[in-house]
Parts: sequence; structure tokens; C-alpha cells
Amino acid sequence: MDKRADQLHVYFLPMMAPGHMIPLVDMARQFSRHGVKVTIVTTPLNATKFSKTIQKDREFGSDICIRTTEFPCKEAGLPEGCENLASTTTSEMTMKFIKALYLFEQPVEKFMEEDHPDCLVAGTFFAWAVDVAAKLGIPRLAFNGTGLLPMCAYNCLMEHKPHLKVESETEEFVIPGLPDTIKMSRSKLSQHWVDEKETPMTPIIKDFMRAEATSYGAIVNSFYELEPNYVQHFREVVGRKVWHVGPVSLCNKDNEDKSQRGQDSSLSEQKCLDWLNTKEPKSVIYICFGSMSIFSSDQLLEIATALEASDQQFIWVVRQNTTNEEQEKWMPEGFEEKVNGRGLIIKGWAPQVLILDHEATGGFVTHCGWNSLLEGVSAGVPMVTWPLSAEQFFNEKLLVEILKIGVPVGVQAWSQRTDSRVPINRENILRAVTKLMVGQEAEEMQGRAAALGKSAKMAVEKGGSSDNSLVSLLEELRNGKSSSN
Ligand code: UDP
Repeated sequence: MDKRADQLHVYFLPMMAPGHMIPLVDMARQFSRHGVKVTIVTTPLNATKFSKTIQKDREFGSDICIRTTEFPCKEAGLPEGCENLASTTTSEMTMKFIKALYLFEQPVEKFMEEDHPDCLVAGTFFAWAVDVAAKLGIPRLAFNGTGLLPMCAYNCLMEHKPHLKVESETEEFVIPGLPDTIKMSRSKLSQHWVDEKETPMTPIIKDFMRAEATSYGAIVNSFYELEPNYVQHFREVVGRKVWHVGPVSLCNKDNEDKSQRGQDSSLSEQKCLDWLNTKEPKSVIYICFGSMSIFSSDQLLEIATALEASDQQFIWVVRQNTTNEEQEKWMPEGFEEKVNGRGLIIKGWAPQVLILDHEATGGFVTHCGWNSLLEGVSAGVPMVTWPLSAEQFFNEKLLVEILKIGVPVGVQAWSQRTDSRVPINRENILRAVTKLMVGQEAEEMQGRAAALGKSAKMAVEKGGSSDNSLVSLLEELRNGKSSSN
């Protein structure tokens, strides 16, 4: 039989935000290593962030390509070049960006009519993807960038509405129906949940939910051993098909791949390695709050002061949305000299996976973005949990209460990325960092984290839980393809 005619062709449409694009591109590469023909659709500027990696895969024989379509900046009322959610700086811009994603329906449909793929994997924000896939008679798999625990928790919130039965923002309630006793408060949920008032986001969120519920199934960057009860809950209680194929970051085996995820690093791969190579195993804390967070000078000052007092070695990724002059205001007097040799500050973008995977890294202060959580788990490091927004407060519960590899810094309130948050004070940061790195409890957490790291790696090896899940998904798609031919 003609190999090409039999070959599966899967389309990937990642939402243009680092936390969605990075894992979906890794996932697309995994599919192609299983012999699938893969097309990734994105905009020209976003394509530059991963085209080198894709080119390299092609040179090694992968059947993977990128198709681009312009981002409709002008129609959306966004400045030229604002093609990624990380480039939006106000909630108005974010709203315009999300609405602009609806304008991709026609160009993507046109591509798909030309290419006749067998499946469309699309980010949640492209709710119309489910309709386009239905029109073309192929399955749409939903990818929303997070894990199964938060997906199950949101489902229970929707069904039982426990957050509407408490008196205050801070009163805790148990989320009914979940496999574990998970307590939440309204202050840790986004505004959308808190008062259930109609906001401009409400119809959009309803549309996402409709599309998720009517998709063929979900594909998640997670692995069975990380959250087995939630895999089961999602299948049996939420009642949807799901394939767990992660941690997808583990498909990056060499240092070049690890350091080229998302965008070019502000500090070269070699400089990071040279610095880390001088340190003892498990002696460095890595501090990074993902791709979207913006911290005030006040907050940066608290972190700097705590790090200085901690005596710990660290790599700290600092990103601020201000002028250079303002940027330096947060630095305590003589900070850089005092921590010279002990601390490395990366202003901008860090090669996160390269750093986490280095044997010198022994802890991670994270905002609990799902990718960061999984990358920390895969590297076998315990974490200080500092959730900010999105579903990150649920991810904190998984790390601290279920897996017992997290120390909370004590954040009490959900915030927009551009909000002026009440800073977490230096005492709390110092307490959490010390608990993470020093003493009996720290050693126990390190042991648990190392074991989990091993199971993450096994999951993606041949015959591991994630590899099996991907193989069974491909089998199902192939069966669907041959029955529709
Ligand atoms: N990341 C990185 N370098 C940085 C900041 C982030 O490589 O300096 C990557 C990180 O490895 C992860 C992604 O960006 O893959 C961030 O995703 P996550 O879900 O953790 O957080 P988000 O940015 O979506 O809040």
C-alpha cells in the first residue's frame, strides 16, 4: 500500500501564548516521531520562535511543516507585531487579542480544505475549531494547556457552585465530588467565577466550554502517575475522552533543543552551563514566574532582600514591564556585588528546561504555570509555590497537598497579570526558600521529587503510560481514517 495514503496527517493550531505554543509544538514533534505527518499553523512572527527546531527535525527525517497566516492586527485594533498574548500589556489589549482569534477561522479552514488532514488539535481559545473539524468530518482534540486536576476541579465548580455558598472572599469551601479534599476560596479564583456577573469574557468562556464539551476528546500534557485519580475522574465522571501524552518537554534531549524553547535566551546556553557547572549538586534555586507575569519594583525588592538573606545560590529570572531606569530601582544597595558568584540574574528569557535539568539545580520557585510545574516534576526538583492567576492555585494544591513536593509562599489572592498585587514579604519568601533547601523535610521532599521525576521520564519512554496513550490515540485515529475512506 502507498505509505503516504496510509499516513495520518494531524494539524496543530496552538494558541499564540508561550505557555500554549511551547508544549503544543513539543507535542506536534512527538506525533511526527511516531510517523505522523504534522502541520503546525501559526502566524509569521510566532513561527520564528520555533522554526529552527522544526527545520532540524525535518533534517532528521520528520514529516513536519509550518503553515503561516497573517495575524489580523489591524482588524483587531492591535499594534503591528502584537501576535502573541505575551505582547499584550493591558486587559483591553488581551480582550482584543482573544477576539482576534475568531478571525483565524477562515484562513485555517482554507488550509485544511487544501491539505485534508485527519485530525485537528487546537487550543481551547479556538472554539470554532470544533465546527470546522465537524464540517470537514474529522475529529477535533482540545488542548487547553493545563492538567487534569484543574480541569476536573473547574468541572465540579460549574456543577456544584460551592463558591456561591460562602459568605466571604476568604472563607474556604471544599470542592465537592473530587477524588481528594481540595479546599479553595473565592479570593483564589478569577473574577469570572466569583460573582458570575456577565463580563465581556462571559460569552467567550461559554463558547470555549461548549467547544471543549463537544470535541472528540482532550489531549493533555500530563502523565498517568502524576494524577491517576484525575485521569479516571475525567473519563468516568466528567465523561470525556482524554489522552495524556506528557511531559512533552522531555522530547528535548540535547542542550540546544532545551535552550531553544519559546524564544532565544537572554543569556547564552553556554554561560548558564558554565555557571551551573561550578556548583555542587542540588545547591541552586531557580526562580522564574513564567512567560506572562509582571512584578512591581516593590515585589522584586522583597525577593532580592530575601535571596540576599538566604545564603542560598540562585538563578533568578527577572522580567519587568518598565523602563530601564525604573528597573534598577528595586535592587537593594550593592545587591549585585553582594551576591556575586552566588546568584545569577537573567533579565528576560531563560533556558528554563536546561537550568532545571542541570544536576546543580535543587529547587524551583514557581508561579505554578502547568508547564513549569511539569518541567520541575520532570527534573525531579521540589518547588516553592507562588501562584498568581489562571488555574495556578489548583496546581499549587497538587504540588503541596497531593504530591507533597511543594512549600507554599503564602499567596492568598488571584490577580490579573497587570494588577498591582500586594507584595509577598521578604520573611515569607525567606521562610519558604529555607524550608525548600535546608533540613530533614527538604531532604524528604527531594526524595519524593526525584522519584516522581523518574516516573515522568519512564512515562514517555517506549511502553510508558504516556507513550502507550499516544500510541492508542494514533491507533484510534488510523481506524477512523480507514473507516471513513
Ligand atoms: N519559559 C522559559 N523561559 C523563561 C520563562 C518561561 O523557557 O524565562 C517557558 C517555560 O519553560 C514554560 C513556559 O515558558 O515552558 C511557561 O509556561 P507556564 O505554563 O509555566 O506559564 P505561563 O507562562 O503560561 O504562565
